[in-house]
Amino acid sequence: MDLGLTGKWALVCAASKGLGKGCASALVREGVNVVITARGAEALEATAAELRAFKGGEVRAVAGDITTAEGRTAALAACPQVDILVNNAGGPPPGDFRDWDREAWIKALDANMLTPIELIKATIDAMAERGFGRIVNITSAAVKAPIDVLGLSNGARSGLTGFVAGVARQRALASRNVTLNNLLPGPFDTDRVRGMAAGAALKSGQTVEAVLDARRQLNPTQRFGTTAEFGATCAFLCSVHAGYLTGQNILLDGGAYPGTF
Ligand code: NAP
Repeated sequence: MDLGLTGKWALVCAASKGLGKGCASALVREGVNVVITARGAEALEATAAELRAFKGGEVRAVAGDITTAEGRTAALAACPQVDILVNNAGGPPPGDFRDWDREAWIKALDANMLTPIELIKATIDAMAERGFGRIVNITSAAVKAPIDVLGLSNGARSGLTGFVAGVARQRALASRNVTLNNLLPGPFDTDRVRGMAAGAALKSGQTVEAVLDARRQLNPTQRFGTTAEFGATCAFLCSVHAGYLTGQNILLDGGAYPGTF
């Protein structure tokens, strides 16, 4: 299927690794020009080189913290126009809510709620003027089925989800072919998941591989999702074919969520 995206410009945040990289890879292969960001310049440049080797769209790399005003300004300045915005940032740490002070909450809200809102605000009206816009927010399966130790994530991402639900239905945007959707990852094979498994292994005395295996067995598919699968779904949501698909929360979790709907 031709996704009809050749020559569009995308800003894909937090994309040197993991799910963001998966989205950027899929878009570049579709001929989309991308601006990718991450804090660590070395890994970001290595990813940019990998993506350029696809010989798809142009790839620009902007090192910076997307949760800061400076990071957002630099990322936006590198993108001639934002037709596609993929919002992403690192997830907050796990823990006990009794230990989280205001600063911990503000950090989580900044990364997983207010930064995407700022970027939506900076780009969406121009999308509507041009008659095409796709916004995909990477949130978490925890929005649908909260994970107790990830209270910062459950809270901040639910705030973003509520905001997006309202904006997506604004007639001035929806009637101008601008869609907003959230992608909710369950367990995917990324550095973050491996890092969290390493923490759990330390606590329990198991090996990291044993912790990862136990997690795989919990999922109906008996495996983690791949970043390529995640990226392909993101690219479809951004495609010209998905103009009637807006305001949705799309769970990519291998069937882990146990509900019928
Ligand atoms: P990952 O493999 O650790 O990759 C995170 C990427 O984001 C890296 O490129 C990282 O680069 C970049 N990044 C982090 N903070 C940033 C910031 N402030 N500014 C710019 N770039 C930043 O993580 P992931 O597994 O892909 O997760 C992506 C998001 O999905 C996270 O919010 C995570 O909580 C959520 N999620 C993931 C899963 C999963 O199974 N993987 C499940 C549910 C939710 P630098 O560190 O160099 O900045």
